[in-house]
Amino acid sequence: MKILKFGGTSVGSPERMKKLLDIIRPEDKQIVVLSAVSGTTNSLVEISNAYLNGDKQKAKQLCEILFDKYKLFVDELFSTSQGKSNGTDLINYHFTLLNSFSTDLFTPVEEKIILAQGELLSTTLYHYYLAELGINSVLLPALDFMKIDEDNEPVIDYIGAHLQPLLDKNTDQTLFITQGYICRNSFGEIDNLRRGGSDYTASLIGAAIRADEVQIWTDIDGMHNNDPRIVKGTRPIAQLSFEEAAELAYFGAKILHPQSVFPAQKYKIPVRLLNTMEPSAAGTLITHDSEKGKIKSIAAKDGITAIKIHSSRMLLAYGFLRKVFEVFERYKTPIDMITTSEVAVSVTIDETSYLEEILHDLQDFGTVEVEDHRSIICVVGDFAYESHGFAARVFDSIKHISIKMISYGASNYNISLLVNTDDKTEALRSLHDRLF
Ligand code: ADP
Ligand code: ASP
Ligand code: MG
Repeated sequence: MKILKFGGTSVGSPERMKKLLDIIRPEDKQIVVLSAVSGTTNSLVEISNAYLNGDKQKAKQLCEILFDKYKLFVDELFSTSQGKSNGTDLINYHFTLLNSFSTDLFTPVEEKIILAQGELLSTTLYHYYLAELGINSVLLPALDFMKIDEDNEPVIDYIGAHLQPLLDKNTDQTLFITQGYICRNSFGEIDNLRRGGSDYTASLIGAAIRADEVQIWTDIDGMHNNDPRIVKGTRPIAQLSFEEAAELAYFGAKILHPQSVFPAQKYKIPVRLLNTMEPSAAGTLITHDSEKGKIKSIAAKDGITAIKIHSSRMLLAYGFLRKVFEVFERYKTPIDMITTSEVAVSVTIDETSYLEEILHDLQDFGTVEVEDHRSIICVVGDFAYESHGFAARVFDSIKHISIKMISYGASNYNISLLVNTDDKTEALRSLHDRLF
């Protein structure tokens, strides 16, 4: 069984949706994971913000604008009156729901219900479209099997145990369609896997049912060696290891959701990144193997806050770092980078919901300094012992840029550098020019 995930642009218009049949072969056993039509989730965020701000009128207007887009979409997607009528009933149902919320009782629970409508719409529209063509498909409700726990971590065993019976009920069928991004949380409420989460859905399903391969179909021909939105002349990378891909995804390569590599990696399921606009392009293959002796790619992640704790008590003391880490653990805040000296430790975080509490608690251990508006630049490649000289090339490439922190040596495959966000673009371009 293969998992094929198509992102927002790949289902972004009726024309694109129809084109999926150039890639999907209905007779092959597969689960097709769809994102919402591009732009929809952003609109849903705006709608729920309007409700949150108590502006029902604005929510209504935004719903109308989005509804008009879907009316056109339905009209162009279907050619029979039966198809058009099914599509119209469907969008009427979802937009009646979107319009039905009250601003008084609007909580994160309602917000997540709103955010889920995009994937529910795209998958059902596609299922109806296939039916119009006489192609059998089974719509698998992600809300019946995708599950996260109280720490927002997906529960792979649960997913497998609830998805497999749905597949077993349909052994005569080959083409299954499901929603990316959406799930249920530990209270059983509708929730999601964070923005860009459909990649994560595909990898989780792949892991849960031990699929043969996960394919992420998007609008570019694989993972490029730098951020194509910022740097000109980037090129696709043919092969990456799970570790390298995970590092790039985590540190800002938008093509993959930050967590999406881990489930596939755990069960050694190959992941291919492919281009819907150019299906014959080779794309990127992610497996356990890594090409040696190369610098592979550069990525950057914004919105980083650095925290430095100075303390003379750190000198010759043990247990100090544990106490510092416990503060972050208490507030469930992951640390991205860390550096230490005899009298100071610096860490970076990107989740700042509990920043004030963290700073307060850290003051017990010494003087605390905070700097925000930082970016992490991550260079991924073969930095193993044999390939000496690569690190020097990295530093030489950005010698004109002020580096705030360096993390090197924890793994053989990356160097992370903290820079001022204003220097990020120059750092990415300069690294690109000199490393590739
Ligand atoms: P989808 O909607 O299919 O999930 P995304 O917009 O989430 O697509 O991801 C694809 C986009 O990721 C590309 O269009 C590209 O602009 C961006 N991107 C950022 N960094 C990289 C990279 N290193 N390689 C490829 N694409 C990247
Ligand atoms: N539709 C969701 C988003 O826009 C999930 C995804 O596209 O992967 O974030
Ligand atoms: Mg995406």
